[in-house]
Amino acid sequence: CGTSGKFWIGGNWKSNGTAESVSKLVDELNSGTVPSNTEVIVSPTFLQIPYVSQNLDQTKFAVSAQNCWVEGYGAYTGEISAEALADAGLNWVILGHSERRALNEESNELVADKTKKALDTGLSVIACIGETLEQRESGEMFNVLDAQLAAIADKVSDWSKIVVAYEPVWAIGTGVVATPDQAQEVHAYLRKWFADKVSADVSKSIRVVYGGSVNAENCAELATKEDVDGFLVGGASLKGPDFLVIANAFE
Ligand code: PGA
Repeated sequence: CGTSGKFWIGGNWKSNGTAESVSKLVDELNSGTVPSNTEVIVSPTFLQIPYVSQNLDQTKFAVSAQNCWVEGYGAYTGEISAEALADAGLNWVILGHSERRALNEESNELVADKTKKALDTGLSVIACIGETLEQRESGEMFNVLDAQLAAIADKVSDWSKIVVAYEPVWAIGTGVVATPDQAQEVHAYLRKWFADKVSADVSKSIRVVYGGSVNAENCAELATKEDVDGFLVGGASLKGPDFLVIANAFE
């Protein structure tokens, strides 16, 4: 599965967490185990990253940011550059999350430019794509996914440091998880997209993970699907014991 042969599990903490809750979560995660076939990443807010980097057991977990700016250091008030993330010792950044696409009006092109910038800076990227319910129901789903990926493919040729997260917007934070068959259908489609538009090698090696209402109860069945290489988890990643169950879904 994927370039490294490992499954991939990410916890996206979004804009959650106090010093107290993050310290508890870090302790809970440190007390758990992660199978050797799985890579596990957690993504706190920028402010919590130093604490988590210093206290989380990085033999089991890596730390990611949830966003970065498209330019380097400079006069970009309120932004954090990919260079600053690398300087802080991070190896990962989530880009193109549907909340940023919707709430911060991030276009396919901006997400693609940020992806290129992050890769050029040496970071690995979790590139998020996904359709809304309206797009799915109107038959636009595959066109939407094509456009999101094509924008990245226009700017990037080396996909070895990208994990694609398929996150249907209607499944994020709603409790309405995609069925295993719905996830498999799209993941198989995406793999074919890579075979047709990029290369057979990338199609085989790229990890395509599912996100949207994954929890400790539904992860095992989703994990049985051939083209599901892992999960990007929001709400359930804030509960240490639940996230550890998900991190062990592919054992
Ligand atoms: P959720 O979020 O697991 O809370 O649905 C997933 C995500 O936004 O990555």
